[in-house]
Amino acid sequence: MAYTLDQAKFSFSFWERLLYLELLVFHNNPYATPFSMSTPSLLDVFKATGALLDGHFKLTSGRHSNAYFQCAKVLQYPEHLSAVCSRIASHFTGNGIETVISPAIGGIVVGTEVGRQLGVKTIFAERKDGAMTIRRGFSLEPGERVLVIEDVITTGGSVAEVIALIKAAGASLVGVGSVVDRSNGRVKLADDQFSVLLMEVISYAPEECPLCKEGLPIDAPGSRANKQN
Ligand SMILES: [Zn+2]
Repeated sequence: MAYTLDQAKFSFSFWERLLYLELLVFHNNPYATPFSMSTPSLLDVFKATGALLDGHFKLTSGRHSNAYFQCAKVLQYPEHLSAVCSRIASHFTGNGIETVISPAIGGIVVGTEVGRQLGVKTIFAERKDGAMTIRRGFSLEPGERVLVIEDVITTGGSVAEVIALIKAAGASLVGVGSVVDRSNGRVKLADDQFSVLLMEVISYAPEECPLCKEGLPIDAPGSRANKQN
């Protein structure tokens, strides 16, 4: 993607601020080297893989935004998948987790890698006739300690449905982990909730969008495969 110099400057400082918030406020971890020249930060990785896009986008809500996050773009590379998931796994290590569960489809890749790193059973829930269900012979037992993993949280709808399944089975919710929280922490799903990246999504009603006024062409990248919930 081509940038003008001014856009590049703006977007860099914008995402830097997000990472700063993420690293300094919400985590206390040895990966906190966002401004080092020698160690690429996760922010660099998100940008380099095209997971973080700057431009002019129509979100699934219909609103317009200058930024978009495509989680799958970074997770397609095994070394990045491993690095991102190790942030989540290390947060929840030592909590006696017995099972990781994810909502299909977006959460499965992240959930499987987090479960692998924690060395625990990993399953997923999926929609059947619109309702989130546990199928394929998977099951949750009363008292089982379960961690929910999602790729992107916006409204938290899918995760909330998985939590309802956990409660219905009498199992125990340990926490919720995700790669990106687009609600910037406003959506509260569990006492122990962790996200690698917190985003503050700036969006506009189409009629008030400054990017439309500039005449910038618009992208609509939010297919259900990249669902933002
Ligand atoms: Zn617009």
